[in-house]
Amino acid sequence: MTNVCTFRLDDITPDMDWDKFYRVKAIFDKYKVKPLIGVVPQNADPGLSRGEYHEDFWEYIASLQKNGWLVAQHGFRHVYETKASGLLGLKPASEFAGLPYETQYEKIKNGREILQKHGLDATIFMAPGHTYDKNTLRALKKLGFVCVTDGYTDIPYYMKGLLFVPCRSSQPKLSGGVDTICIHCNELDEGDYRELENFLEKHASSVLPFAEIAGQLWYPKKVLMLRLQEKRNLLRRRIKTRLTGSGTLQLYLQETYDENPSVKRKKRIFGLPRLLFGRKRNGNRRQNKT
Ligand SMILES: [Zn+2]
Repeated sequence: MTNVCTFRLDDITPDMDWDKFYRVKAIFDKYKVKPLIGVVPQNADPGLSRGEYHEDFWEYIASLQKNGWLVAQHGFRHVYETKASGLLGLKPASEFAGLPYETQYEKIKNGREILQKHGLDATIFMAPGHTYDKNTLRALKKLGFVCVTDGYTDIPYYMKGLLFVPCRSSQPKLSGGVDTICIHCNELDEGDYRELENFLEKHASSVLPFAEIAGQLWYPKKVLMLRLQEKRNLLRRRIKTRLTGSGTLQLYLQETYDENPSVKRKKRIFGLPRLLFGRKRNGNRRQNKT
């Protein structure tokens, strides 16, 4: 388990962009990948309404589960109510962090009951925006959740009686250690499908089902070493995000991109002088999402 990953699909709703979802599903089916899917119990976020409302949504999700896909509860209504960035600090917006314990408990419970009503006993929690605080974790534990698909360490860890399986990437890649690649189907374009397929073509054997990763017994508690590792990884990410926001770097990434990883590597190396000493312009290469 030194360099493996699993996939999660966020923002699964009855009116998501189904065409894009089916494109991803076809790729996963081809490579026999069974992802974790984050179902929003009662979506009220207009940003996630991208397509025709499917009346048979819940039956369809149940059928995916029957076929080995795993269901996580993705918040409750997916509406950010606070500007708290929670324990990870990845995004200054949250559906839960910063709210009183009782409020969070009620929201998570309502979401849990909706999923249960549709025959889905999801005990994995996927926080919108990756934002949760200690009260969220207390409520999750109280409601019978066992796992959170988040964290920024290199390996999973236990905290407050819950297993955290790290989620550090929003693009297909192996990050070292154990990672979850977080995909928002609604946002994908042609290049993303190709990138996903190329990755699976090459690394299918390193992709494990979420349950297999979560089922390992050797994970430690979040000891000091893991706390420091998480802080280091988060700092690296902040630096990378800041650099990616620079027009020069975006242009460099755009101009040196190639579907073939070895060609891309060469282009990136030969393009370095221009990145370091070249002109500044605005590019529009997609940034890592959280
Ligand atoms: Zn989401």
